[in-house]
Amino acid sequence: MGKVCCFGTCNSDSRYPERVSGVSFYPFPKPKTRMDACMRWIKACGRPHSQLNVTKITKDTYVCSKHFKDGRPTTRFPDPQPADGTDAAPVRTPMKRHVQQNECNKKPRLTPPIQESQLQGTPTEGSSSPSLRSIQRLKKENKDLKRENDDLKREKEDLNSTCEDLRRKNEDLKRECADLSRENEELKKHALVVFRHVLTVQRFFTTWMLVCKMFGWIQL
Ligand SMILES: [Zn+2]
Repeated sequence: MGKVCCFGTCNSDSRYPERVSGVSFYPFPKPKTRMDACMRWIKACGRPHSQLNVTKITKDTYVCSKHFKDGRPTTRFPDPQPADGTDAAPVRTPMKRHVQQNECNKKPRLTPPIQESQLQGTPTEGSSSPSLRSIQRLKKENKDLKRENDDLKREKEDLNSTCEDLRRKNEDLKRECADLSRENEELKKHALVVFRHVLTVQRFFTTWMLVCKMFGWIQL
């Protein structure tokens, strides 16, 4: 199977050698073992949620070397650069990097935003501008967190529906298994009947041969 890069609008595809000279493919982190990294990669790829989400990640999902700052996942830049052109910050400030290019514009639902009135009691330490800046920073952080929360909720819904599907499939398989074992039992019974018939015929034949020999009807 050919390797295809699932990043943004990248057309790296190992089935077209002219597109991938000097390009390597790196498999997506698996949701099972590295959910955090997997979600960061999904976000970096910048594709619509319906096209790329945790349920679409398989062993054949790749990002090509073109999208890594170091040309490959490194300890400092383990994730692809965001497809929206923002510069990925090196590891240590994962939060900021990973909420930046979120395409979610649903109204946040969960935590209410930090109200300015709630923050008015904050000591100002002389000048008022540092506190204003920190309010703005907190507000921005709050907004980012809410977006992330919405994204996570959506991922959770996806996972839930996948889970439900799997459960249903499991039920189906169990039923199929029961049917097959019933069929197996029936076949066994049938085989036994056939075997008995064969035995009867064989016995009859042997007796008949004996009779024939006795009366000299046949020469052996
Ligand atoms: Zn690519």
